[in-house]
Amino acid sequence: MSTLYADIILPLALRPLSFAIGDELAEVVDVGSGVAVPLGEGKVYTGIISRIHTVRPPFKRIKSVLSVVRSEPLASPSQLALWRWIADYYMCTEGEVMRAALPSLLKPNAESHDLFTNEVFSLGCEQMLSLAEGVRSEEALSQALEALLPRRKAQYAAMMEFCDKVGTDKIFTGGAIARRAMEASAAVINKLVEGGLLQVARVERSTREIAAELISHTTLSEAQTTALDAINQNFGRHQSVLLHGVTGSGKTELYISLAAKTLAEGRSVLYLLPELALTEQLIERLRTAFGEGLTVYHSHLTARARTETYIRLSLSDGGQIVVGTRSAILLPLNNLGLIIVDEEHDSSFKQEDPAPRFSARDTAVWIAHNLGAKTILGSATPSLESFYNAYTGKYGYVRLDERYGEGQFPQVTISDTIRSAKRGERKGHINKELSDEIRTALAEGRQVMLFQNRRGFAPYIECPDCGWSGRCPQCGVTLTYYKKGDKLRCNLCGHSEPAPHKCPSCNVAEPQPQGFGTEKIEECVAELFPSARVARLDGDVAQSASRMRSVIRAFESGQTDILVGTQMITKGFDFEGVSVVGVLNADNLLCRPDFRAEERTFQTIVQIAGRAGRKDNHGRTVIQTAQPDNHTIIHAASGDYYAMARTQLRDREAFGYPPFARIINISLRHTSAELVTFGARKLARRLKELIGPEAVTDAHPPVVSKLGDVFILEIMVRIERGASPAEVKALITQALVEFGRDKVVRRISTSVNVDPA
Ligand code: ADP
Ligand code: ZN
Ligand code: ZN
Repeated sequence: MSTLYADIILPLALRPLSFAIGDELAEVVDVGSGVAVPLGEGKVYTGIISRIHTVRPPFKRIKSVLSVVRSEPLASPSQLALWRWIADYYMCTEGEVMRAALPSLLKPNAESHDLFTNEVFSLGCEQMLSLAEGVRSEEALSQALEALLPRRKAQYAAMMEFCDKVGTDKIFTGGAIARRAMEASAAVINKLVEGGLLQVARVERSTREIAAELISHTTLSEAQTTALDAINQNFGRHQSVLLHGVTGSGKTELYISLAAKTLAEGRSVLYLLPELALTEQLIERLRTAFGEGLTVYHSHLTARARTETYIRLSLSDGGQIVVGTRSAILLPLNNLGLIIVDEEHDSSFKQEDPAPRFSARDTAVWIAHNLGAKTILGSATPSLESFYNAYTGKYGYVRLDERYGEGQFPQVTISDTIRSAKRGERKGHINKELSDEIRTALAEGRQVMLFQNRRGFAPYIECPDCGWSGRCPQCGVTLTYYKKGDKLRCNLCGHSEPAPHKCPSCNVAEPQPQGFGTEKIEECVAELFPSARVARLDGDVAQSASRMRSVIRAFESGQTDILVGTQMITKGFDFEGVSVVGVLNADNLLCRPDFRAEERTFQTIVQIAGRAGRKDNHGRTVIQTAQPDNHTIIHAASGDYYAMARTQLRDREAFGYPPFARIINISLRHTSAELVTFGARKLARRLKELIGPEAVTDAHPPVVSKLGDVFILEIMVRIERGASPAEVKALITQALVEFGRDKVVRRISTSVNVDPA
């Protein structure tokens, strides 16, 4: 027998390394197994086998695998193929993908490899309560209950709860309930067990496969049924379909139908959502549809919960439904039939830092094309990339352009802030058009949402005499002024300092707050509408999950009338009482230094406008802007996606931006500004030589050009249509390898971001 070799993915920024497998180990390992290998001086690392083969690697001394630490695969061949693709496409290593994919308790580690064999690998067990054998007849049970009644009221109540939850018809035949599902305290339940009324069994936590007949459906409307048929038809010809459905059209109901069908075929479903703080409403809806079988996966779960989910899924061969954020795309879902990417345009599907800098949406499309699932991308305002892919026939395309039921589109008005100010009709940053609508809504007992994409009281303070403005000593960005606490704070690094009352530069005047943020709007609105109950929801409030939840609940239940907020209030919300939505300053959205600024402005305005008039009432939306003639604002106001897409795609083509070209950003970081400048110039020069001078920009500072004491420079590489992305990536890799060998510049850390959001 010839010697076997294994390529092993190690948790490092390295390509898989080859090791020999001894005969005795060859029998117990497989692709996906976890093994320990020697590396460097006396160090032991654990990793995962990605390939087993007989080709002798081209080095003199080949080390052998030391031991097998977990023989059942931690990753299936499909997953390993996915990791390889992500590593290739996003220019990182399979080790980095593995680090993102495995929950921390399973993560291979340089220090100790016993993590792999930890008991945590066994699926969690659960305690199930059932009626004790001795009392499984009506007579015996009623005697036992009577005996409790006079003095043991808590135990009696717990027995009632138990009978109620299990169902009186099932208790005598051994019907059981999870102990954690009981409200009675542990002490009371223990007494009942000791007293011979209940018994406990330990069972493996269920694999949570969902019985198709338990899924609860709503009846689809005619338009929804037509759209669903069209999606199914499209899936005959396409692996991926874009569902372009206006806000309130009931896209979620379509996802539920598609998911139910996939589950009924015994296959699994992955439902991806943006990283919103506010997914609770949607998860509740999915729970109503799919019951307790729904698996929820996001980064706020405990390490243990994530590990259990990972193992449970890897052992199941279908029938699972998982709802999760970006990282859920890396879960080991076998027999995956459908991936739903809800709000596919959202930028949180792209991971920016650290590697792997992958897009979960684009990964879902890859899985559809290579691993045999179907992917549905849904949005009211699709990304131009997805829209273009649908337009050119790469994806199927289904449009749903009516709202469900009586829901009407809001009537949208553009309100000119400059004209309003000139006429003296602007008070507290609110034009007359908007304040009139707010007054009417309040008089009718309806609710109002006001959107402003700046936090704090004012975005910056400025000296009226010399023009000095407060900047973060660490990041260089302007500091936000907070009236509460009278302080300046950096929204990037959290640096905070008291607001100066005398200008630190000229020592003459007092710097004044400029512009306005949510804190100030909250104050102005409370002054303008003294009887209204006003609340605020932004990144500062969201620092406390419980505070955020209580703000949402209060608004949901009508205890507050006006909600002022940032981006957070634009998505995922479905509040029936809202009749007026105001965008306080659309100009902030437009002025972002980014080729996507206009697309994003359109998306944000349409999404927030969609929060008004969701059920039976005509909502009203007022967009305040100093540029009432701006075409993006006009398109957003009329909700004309096609007009926006036509204009933007024309510009993108003219200037060579996605979807007509691909972009790769290379970022360089170092504490020495001189060194990073020197290195970045050198790298840009080399890239221009290798790839071509027009395809590579000079090194330039990105929007955030300093983080803490680290200076950042960026180089952008553009891959025009027709050029081979793989070739360009290989040249970038070559340039970076050379860079890493240069004794002077190698201390600069570099990172590559493919398709930046
Ligand atoms: P979208 O995700 O497209 O914005 P939703 O799925 O949130 O729209 O639907 C908007 C509202 O209409 C929700 O309150 C939803 O419960 C309701 N709805 C949509 N379709 C149906 C249906 N077929 N039956 C009952 N209610 C529906
Ligand atoms: Zn000054
Ligand atoms: Zn800072």
